[in-house]
Amino acid sequence: MIVIIGGINMDLVLHVPRMPHPGETLSGGQFQTIPGGKGANQAVACARLSADTVKVAMIACLGDDVFGVALRSALRSDGIDDTHVSTIKGVASGVASILVDANGQNSIVLAAGANDALSPAHIDAARTLMAQSQIVVLQLETPLPTIRHAIKLAHDLGKVVVLNPAPAQTLPTDLLAQVQYLIPNEIEAAMLAGLPEASLDNDAAIDAAIAKLRAGGSDNLLITLGAKGVYAALSSGSVHFAAQPVTAIDTTAAGDTFIGGFVAALAEGRSEADAIAFAQRAAALSVARIGAQTSIPYRHEVEA
Ligand code: ADP
Repeated sequence: MIVIIGGINMDLVLHVPRMPHPGETLSGGQFQTIPGGKGANQAVACARLSADTVKVAMIACLGDDVFGVALRSALRSDGIDDTHVSTIKGVASGVASILVDANGQNSIVLAAGANDALSPAHIDAARTLMAQSQIVVLQLETPLPTIRHAIKLAHDLGKVVVLNPAPAQTLPTDLLAQVQYLIPNEIEAAMLAGLPEASLDNDAAIDAAIAKLRAGGSDNLLITLGAKGVYAALSSGSVHFAAQPVTAIDTTAAGDTFIGGFVAALAEGRSEADAIAFAQRAAALSVARIGAQTSIPYRHEVEA
C-alpha cells in the first residue's frame, strides 16, 4: 500500500481576455472546477499508475462544503481509500482560484481552508494504515508540525518516506535526514540548498546544490528539470536521465505525475532506474494534455 499525506484543493479556473486591474470588473470566458492539490494529484497518479495489487490511501482534510463532497467522490472514483480523509465542520475546503489569460499566463490565489486543519492527531489516528503501507509520500501544502510528526512516525515504522518539498521552502536538516527520497524541482532544490533561484541552469550549479543537500542529510535526491529530465543523485551513484521528447501543451501536474509514477513503480519492486524511466514516460504523457488531474495518464497508456 502507498499512503499519501497532503493537500486537496478544488481548482477554480476562469479564462479571461487579460488580467483585471484592481477595482475593475471584467467579463470572463469559460469557467471550470477541476480537482487538484498536490497531495490529491499525487494520490491519483499513484492510483492510475500502480499495479492492480497495490492499494492507495490518503490522509487529508476536506471542508464541509460542496467542494468537499465533490473532491471526496473524485478520490473514490480513482479507487483511493478515503477512510482517513476527514471532513472538518464549519471550514471551507482548500481552493485555488486561477485566472488564465489569452496568452496562457496564469495568476493563482490559494486558500488552504481545511488543509490547515490536518493535525498530528489525524496522523496518529491513521497509525495502523501507515503501519500496513510500504511507502509514505508527503508534500508541503499542509502544516509543517504535522508533516514533521508524520515523517517521524513513518520513519520509526521503517517505511520508505518520499518528500516532494513543494511549494518551495527551506526545511530543517533533521527532517530531511528521515526522508529516503527527496524529489524537488529546480526551484525547490535551489531554495532548500540556500542558492539563488534559477541558479540550477548548469551542471556545476546542480552539483553544488546536490553537495549542500547531501551534507544536509539527503541520501537520495531526484531533481526534476522539466524538459531536461531528472538528475538523480542516489546512494548508488549519480545519473542524468533525459526527458521523453514530447510537445508540451500544459505542464500542470507534471511533477505530481512523475512522483506518482516513481512511487508506483518502487511499490512493485522495480529498480530506481526503471522507476525513473517509467515516471518520466508518465510525466511526458501528462504534459501533452491539459489540466491537472485530467492530464494524469493510466498505467496501460504508459505501457503502450
Ligand atoms: P514541476 O511540475 O514540479 O515543476 P518539472 O517541470 O520538473 O516538475 O517536471 C517533472 C517531470 O515531468 C520532468 O522531470 C520530466 O520528466 C517531465 N516533463 C516536464 N516537462 C516536460 C517536457 N516539456 N517534455 C518532456 N517531459 C517533461
